[in-house]
Amino acid sequence: MMSVSKYQRCINPKCAASYGVDEIMFACPRCGDLLDVWYDWEQLKHPGSLAWFEKRWGKREKPLNFSGVWRFRELLPFCEKKYCVTIGEGQTVLQQNDQVGQYAGVNSGKLYLQYEGLNPSGSFKDNGMAAALSHARMVGVEHVICASTGNTSASLALYAHACGMKCSVLIGSGKIAFGKLSQALDYGAQTIQIKGDFDDCMRQVQEVCRQSKLYLVNSLNPFRLEGQKAIMYRVLEGLRWREPDWVVVPGGNLGNSSAFGKAFMELKQLGLIGRVPRLAVINAVGANTLFDLYENQGLRFNGGEVDTARIDAYYQKLNDSGYRPKTIASAIEISRPVNLKKCLRSLEVCRGVVREVSDEKIKDAKAAVGRYGLGCEPASGASVAGLKLLRQQGVIKADETVVCILTGHQLKDPEVTVRYHREEKGEFSNRPVEVDNDIEAVLKALEK
Ligand SMILES: *Cc1c(COP(=O)(O)O)cnc(C)c1O
Ligand SMILES: [Zn+2]
Repeated sequence: MMSVSKYQRCINPKCAASYGVDEIMFACPRCGDLLDVWYDWEQLKHPGSLAWFEKRWGKREKPLNFSGVWRFRELLPFCEKKYCVTIGEGQTVLQQNDQVGQYAGVNSGKLYLQYEGLNPSGSFKDNGMAAALSHARMVGVEHVICASTGNTSASLALYAHACGMKCSVLIGSGKIAFGKLSQALDYGAQTIQIKGDFDDCMRQVQEVCRQSKLYLVNSLNPFRLEGQKAIMYRVLEGLRWREPDWVVVPGGNLGNSSAFGKAFMELKQLGLIGRVPRLAVINAVGANTLFDLYENQGLRFNGGEVDTARIDAYYQKLNDSGYRPKTIASAIEISRPVNLKKCLRSLEVCRGVVREVSDEKIKDAKAAVGRYGLGCEPASGASVAGLKLLRQQGVIKADETVVCILTGHQLKDPEVTVRYHREEKGEFSNRPVEVDNDIEAVLKALEK
């Protein structure tokens, strides 16, 4: 590959300052806005077509070709191959699923579930960590840190020990699903539980990184989002390079939605896709900042001239009222999403919509994915619940091709699942029955 011109650039068009990819910074030093990784594609050896990447399928003995992130490395060419970290991320499946499709109201053959639970740590975060830790290696980092609702810490801990780096994670106490906490501990992360929620942890970790040399791996990190673009490359790959009509994704800190929009923006620019899919971002009712700002208040990216005063006023109101987000879907229990502006850009690029769904709908949709598909964690269920809602509203048509992103593994949060089935309140509740230790009782129970 020829040398590629690459840099970090501030997303604020009034600033648009650029910096080297070897600099460690998680906000524009000049104006404080978010940074993007940007490429001068003219200098990039052009793949010509997405099908070009298929030539790597037969080379599984090469770890970077096996990786579901790095086999697309020409589309995230910020570092040399020698720094690229992989532990086998991105071996995911795009499952066509008619029964979940019927549940959501989509015609036969039209619904696909992108199951990111198959990643090494059980969530899509591994796509981002593969890229972020490669950048960390490239710039010589020794100690990495993140704030987390759970999956980021699990993923970071796994990648950090694979790279021999020290790893610390900040978690809101009592705010984490046990599957995720057990991973961080098992993988050897220094785990600090803060008496607060995710938004508090996020604030603390940014201050830690301002005051120390620790390397931040939350989705403020633009290199992490480069890795998450690969989720869309694999969706396209699963559809044999046909663009879907819609991509539906849960929205928490809005890293995924930001990465997906950037992926499509670049693919369109490179002429590798003809048409940009539409994007639906789904909030939980109890953590609906994006929905409120985008759908109720009409906040838009506006070519980068975002009405920041409106955002500030919104957060001020959250502060004044002592608002705390609350949802069963802990991975999206976030009220101050750090990637808000980038997500607005994605919504502009992808003619996006935002919806909110209740915890009850999330749990039923999650159970439908469990009953008919490969299972998922609560936050992932939001995408299917959101699709069902958008079908009812007629925004998505029954004959459109839809991809729902299932962001995390079914076993991440067994407590929510077991409670749903035990309490028998949901559409798919499947209560376990208890019988005496007696053959007659067992046979009787089996007759039901
Ligand atoms: C992190 C996470 C989300 C939220 O994704 P964002 O990119 O922060 O919007 C959703 N689901 C699961 C399972 C997650 O781990
Ligand atoms: Zn700037």
